[in-house]
Amino acid sequence: MTEKAKIGVLGGSGLYEIPGLRNVRRVQVKTPFGEPSGAVTLGELEGVDCAFLPRHGQGHVLLPSEINARANIWALKSLGVERLIAVSAVGSLKEELAPRHFVVPDQLIDRTKGRTSTFFGGGIVAHVTFDRPFCAELSKLLCETAGGLGLVAHSGGTYVCMEGPQFSSKAESRLHRQLGADIVGMTAIPEAKLAREAELCYAMAALVTDYDCWKEGEEVNNEQVIQTLNANVANAIRLLASALPAACALPRRCRCARALEGAIFTSPRNMDRKAAKRLELLIGRFTRGRR
Ligand SMILES: [Zn+2]
Repeated sequence: MTEKAKIGVLGGSGLYEIPGLRNVRRVQVKTPFGEPSGAVTLGELEGVDCAFLPRHGQGHVLLPSEINARANIWALKSLGVERLIAVSAVGSLKEELAPRHFVVPDQLIDRTKGRTSTFFGGGIVAHVTFDRPFCAELSKLLCETAGGLGLVAHSGGTYVCMEGPQFSSKAESRLHRQLGADIVGMTAIPEAKLAREAELCYAMAALVTDYDCWKEGEEVNNEQVIQTLNANVANAIRLLASALPAACALPRRCRCARALEGAIFTSPRNMDRKAAKRLELLIGRFTRGRR
């Protein structure tokens, strides 16, 4: 099978397909971590092969807590994806980050509850660095591309990931603001952590749908959120049409592709054989011939 794409997109709320994809194939990928959110769509956009997976599944059937992020990241990695753009709807925690704006975050706070956030364990220990959770190169490209299209894109910001699925209480919204977060969402964790372990570049186009509920008089109203969401998705599609070819043309000088170097603490000869075989896609280059 020569199904390969170097760039992948994880679609969030409202983004279940990329219009304009040509030569579309749907691929069911088997992973050691179970079922991805659905079949991965492979196709060409502006002459560039890309892979697309809506993280909530076709028809939006998975809660944030139900998404099998390990299977999703694994599936994309196994199709050859090196760079991953996550599209996510978020609430804004800052006045200046208005609905319909894009934020390309550079930091993350994990306030999820017990989601599985590593491929490792079961006899193999790894600790990747996560001081900069997002790929700076890919993030810069997203921001510049959005700016070039006349979209309002804020470079940098802290994304706080909450468990959900309920939106925040006012007290939580205030707390997240006090923590220094700029936007709130429900899916960047464990995606970003797993992307790092899989040595993928990971950057996010966060689409602001509302002011969460901290702002008096601007409380979350589902109907309005959906209207804004639709406008945001149309903008995200424009962004992707330019950003995907640009990302493919960008030389990969970041450290993302080497995230596992020095991160695997278990010596190859002490590795559980089954675990090593299961993780071959990620760690094969470190273990081959050393056991
Ligand atoms: Zn990178």
